[in-house]
Parts: sequence; structure tokens; C-alpha cells
Amino acid sequence: MTLPGAAGRVLACLPGSAHHSIYDVRGAPLYHRLTELDATEVPELLRRLRGREGPVLELACGSGRLTLPLLAAGFAVTALDLSPAMVELLEERVRGASALPHRPVSLRALVADMSDFDLAERFGAIVLGTTSITLLDEQARASCFACVRRHLRPGGTFLMSAMDVSAAGREPVESSTPLPTESGELLEYLDPVAERRWTSIVLSDGTGAPRELFSSSMRLLPSAQLIEELAGAGLALAGRHAIDLGTGAAGREDVLLELTADDARRRRRPAVAELFVAPSRFGDSSRRATRAEGTTVHFADGRSALCGTSGLWNVNLGYGNRAVADAVGAASRDASYLTLFRQSHDYAERAALSLIGVAAPHDYDRVLFSTAGSAALDAAIKIARQHSQLLGQPERRVIVGLRGSYHGMTFGAHGLTGEDLGQAQYAIDQRLVRHVDHADPTEIVRLLGAQGDSIAAIVLEPLLGSGAHVVAPAVIEAILRGREDHGYLVVADEVATGFGRTGPMFASQHWSAQPDLLVTSKGLTNGACAASAILWARRVSETFDHADAVLVHGETQAGTPPSCAAIEATIAQFAELDALANGRRVAARLDIWLGELAAQAPAVAHVRGAGCFRAIELREPDGTPFGVERVESVAADCRNAGATVHPGPTAVQLIPALTYQEADLDRLLDRVGGTLQRL
Ligand code: PMP
Repeated sequence: MTLPGAAGRVLACLPGSAHHSIYDVRGAPLYHRLTELDATEVPELLRRLRGREGPVLELACGSGRLTLPLLAAGFAVTALDLSPAMVELLEERVRGASALPHRPVSLRALVADMSDFDLAERFGAIVLGTTSITLLDEQARASCFACVRRHLRPGGTFLMSAMDVSAAGREPVESSTPLPTESGELLEYLDPVAERRWTSIVLSDGTGAPRELFSSSMRLLPSAQLIEELAGAGLALAGRHAIDLGTGAAGREDVLLELTADDARRRRRPAVAELFVAPSRFGDSSRRATRAEGTTVHFADGRSALCGTSGLWNVNLGYGNRAVADAVGAASRDASYLTLFRQSHDYAERAALSLIGVAAPHDYDRVLFSTAGSAALDAAIKIARQHSQLLGQPERRVIVGLRGSYHGMTFGAHGLTGEDLGQAQYAIDQRLVRHVDHADPTEIVRLLGAQGDSIAAIVLEPLLGSGAHVVAPAVIEAILRGREDHGYLVVADEVATGFGRTGPMFASQHWSAQPDLLVTSKGLTNGACAASAILWARRVSETFDHADAVLVHGETQAGTPPSCAAIEATIAQFAELDALANGRRVAARLDIWLGELAAQAPAVAHVRGAGCFRAIELREPDGTPFGVERVESVAADCRNAGATVHPGPTAVQLIPALTYQEADLDRLLDRVGGTLQRL
């Protein structure tokens, strides 16, 4: 048996027979004398119970630290504890207590296991204090919560205390308090890395030397994790109340969680269909965001996290950019809606010119506005096929993409997407789609040799968003060279890489020749409006102009004045905030940090990506890559540590805002690094 910190030093100089558990026959009375005086949770607990109907069921009641105040407040209480010694002590105390105003008191004390009890009665309130929930392992907690759920009356409440170690540091926090009742001290040791808390009582002799040691240790369970588990058991969070610990509680934050039987969930299921989430997981308050500012997102469970994903890779300038918000507001007032069907408007004209300007030196001269990446990819496929027809080559209809790519979820974009994302299930037509490797040019060269003249377009992300795989320069070169021989269009899907994500404004600005169509969406309005745009190279627009051909495509909400105003304002903010240069500074630090992480953390297999778009590939000790569920659980661990990361297929992805400051990055790397080191 070892103990950390001061308790460990005491243990080293005592015989084994002088060390006991806090909960055994000798420890129980001592523990009682100590906790009797500790009333930290009581005021908050009574505040939450005020006006509520009993009876109250108290779990893990111990010697009655909460039971006596509950009885004093007039509640009928059933109190249970696993330790017969504690229950006996409680009954003795209640018999002897003179300060109980309501006589006779209504107390039923039982020796029972809080993770497995079955009482005939149902309760208006159930309480579990002293963060005793941490005594149970995951299975026992699930069973305890199921018992609680069963024993609550309709409308009843479950009040449970929990403790979070403050996100501030990763160093252990140690405290020592003299015992109020005898000679000795109470030692507490919190280790945020080991996620453990040790409580020790040292009794000393007349000379102050230690003579006996009582200890216990328990896991630290973040309240967010408990809330998720409670939700799984049908107990919904109704409130999260801070417990005032006074002074002497460094490094920890105690909370009283208030939960109700989630009858509402059974009657009225969450109304929002969450994307890429099974319905059984809808409505989880730890994943329901309430607001966001700068680089911080706040959640409905009361927690907040540093955003390491820039929203869904689109809030490149941080949340709540005033200039963009003001531009959207002004446009909404002055020209709430103007259409691009059979006409144009000034807002669209200005936004189009700004976009063409930031794509220089590449030469685009037309912009088609759309509402999302997916919709724009569908439109790009239509433009490419019509382009072939206008050139008198209607048989040229095949669209080529990269294996592992993501282009969206509308029918055309879903078909072009090169990951298996249920295309068969939705009968997505992929007969005219081919996929080739992103790392080795052999396949594309072979495909061009066999079918080059039937290809209308090759669509590629410069960096595959799923997994942050950089497309090999040799593949890009083969595609650009093949265009000269075969005449297909090259479409750069810069939905994710555009707006500075990998360094330049558009990643394709570094290619040896420019794409024919460039699709941009994510950073375009800094997340303020649903918008995307396709930039047309002169070669494409001139083909349409020459035939004076109508593109049969349109979306009512595409290119509205507010979204175009947001595009212009975002582009202006890029210059104002010097976002590209700042993004490059963030990227340079990420380079160094990721290199060190890969060398130090055993679970890190590779690091990949470019600029502010990175992936950390994770592997099990036997070398197998992490599966989707493992990655999601690591992402949840990071969120519990105070940072959001994007769960990729086998990697967690870091996609910080380009406007991150040094301190933001320090915090992100500390929280994510700490989580990954511990895997
Ligand atoms: N293309 C790429 C490269 C993307 O990353 C995405 C979205 N992740 C899309 C297309 C689809 O965009 P949207 O979700 O706006 O339809």
C-alpha cells in the first residue's frame, strides 16, 4: 500500500498495524467526529429541497452528516448505508440529538447497498452527498442511477454532490487541516492526472509524532461525465449549483447536481435531429451548446470549453466577430432579401468582386453563389457536364474524386464522396463516379490512359478533411498535366481549405496551374450565414458565354444580401486582423508541438496536416488504429479537460481559429496534450 504526498511520508514511519481504512470499525467513529462538523453541502441542499414534498431517501448516509439537518428541516427520511457501524452510529446520534425540533422524528435507517436496493416506497427527493458516488465503479453507478430512477415519485428530484478538479493546473494539490476534535491532521491530496483523491487522517501522540493513520482513496469523476451517465439512466439535469467551500479548498470546485426523472424525455423526445448521431444520444446537455464567444463555447451542462475545431472548421476568425455581425445586421435591415433568379443585386456584385480579388493571382471572372458546400459541389458537377456538352462532347460525363474524400451529403456530392458513408443505403448513383488514390499517382495516370476522354471533371480537396491527409504533389501534378491532354475541368473543393485554413487564402494558390472551378464555403462568412461560392476560371465562363447558355440551377436562399455582406465583411476582417499571418504563426507552433507529441505519447502513431488543420492519429498498444468509438471517447475526454477537438476516422483533429493568441494555444495544447499523454 502506498500513499502520495504527506500521508505517504507518515505511512513510511508507522508499523503496518497502525494503518486503517477510514470506513472500518476504528475509522468510522473518527470519520464521524470529523464530518459531523463539516456542513459544506447542507445550505445548498436545503435550499434545493425547500418547498418540496418528502419523503427523502438518503443514500450512503454515513453517520448522518446530512440526515440530521434533513430531519431538523422536518422531512421524513429513509437513510441507507453499507456500513452497519455507520448506521448504528446514526441511530444513536438521532436518539441523543436534542436539537431536532420535530419530535418524534421520522427516520428509517437501513444497512443497504446504494447500487442495489429495492424499497417498497417512492420518494419525493433522493440525496447522495459527500461526492460518495465516486466510491462506485461505472457498472455500480449505472445500477445506482437505475435504482434512483425507480424510487423517485413523478416530479421528484435527485440531488447529488460532485467534485471537479479545476481546469487550471495539472499539478497535484495537497492540503492539510488540523483536526478539530483531537490532536492530528486531515490530509487531502488531489491528483488531476491520476484522476484520484486521497483523504487521510493522521492521529498524533502527545509529542506531535504520528501514531495512527486512516486513509481512503477515490476516483475523481468530472461532473460532466456523471451528467452524461445520469442522462443515460433517464435522469435529466435540471440544475448545477456551486457549493460554497469557503477557504481552504484549492484546486477543486464542488457542485450539487439537481436531476429530475426524465419523464419529459419519454413524453417529448428532443426535437432537434442531431447530425451523424444516433437518436438514443440526442438531447445530451453536455453536447448542447448555449453560446460562444472568441474561442470559447458554453454548454447546457454548465461547462465551457476552448474551441479547438473553429466550429465545424468554419469560424476561422473566432466567435462573435463584431464587424461580420454588424454587416449582416445592416444588410438584413436595408435589403433583407433580394434574389439572384433572373436578376442580380449590388451586395452580390460586391461580394463576387471581393472573392475574385482574394483568389489572385489566379484568374477567375465569375462567381456562382450557393448555400452550402454540398449544394455547391452538386452545382459544380452540373457546370462540368454542361461544359462538356457546350464543347460538343456530351459523352464526357464521368466525375473523378479521391478515395477517402468528403464532398457533402446532397445526392451529387454524396456520390462523389470517396468515403463509405452509406451511399448504398440511399441508392446514391455512383455509376459515373470514379475514385483514385490521394498519395500515389499510379492510379490516376492509369485511369486517364483508359478513360481520360470520358471525364468531365476531376474534383479534389487539396487536403482531405477526413483525417487531414495532404494530397501528394505528384497526384496534383498528374491531374493538372492530364487536363492538357484530355481537356476535363479541374475542380478544387476548397470548402474546408479555403480562407486561410492551410496557410494561403486558398490552398490551390500554391499549385503549378490554377483550377477551372474553385468551391469555397466554410470560412466564407465566418459561420454567420449559410453560404458557398463557386469561382469560375475564364476558360469555363467563356464557354458558357460563347454559347450564351443558361445554367439550369438555382437556390432561393443563395447569395442573399445578408450572406453577401457577411462575405465582404469576412474578407475585410482577414486583412484587418492579419489573419493569414497569425494563422501561420499558430501553424509554426503546432509543427513543433506535434513533433514533440509524436515522440513522447505512446498512443500517437502519426501527426498530419498543414497550417491550422491537423490530425493526430491514435493507435492501441498493439499498433491497431483507434476505431471511431475510441476516437469519440478521446474527444469526450478532451472536452472534459476543457477543449473541443474534432473526431476524425482514426485521429483527433485540431483545427484552431487563425486568430488564436499564444495563451489560447498554450491552453489547447496543454489540455489536449495532457489527455493524449494519459491514454
Ligand atoms: N467539401 C468539403 C471538402 C467539406 O469539408 C465539406 C464539409 N465538411 C463539404 C464539401 C460539404 O459542405 P456542407 O456541409 O456545407 O454541405
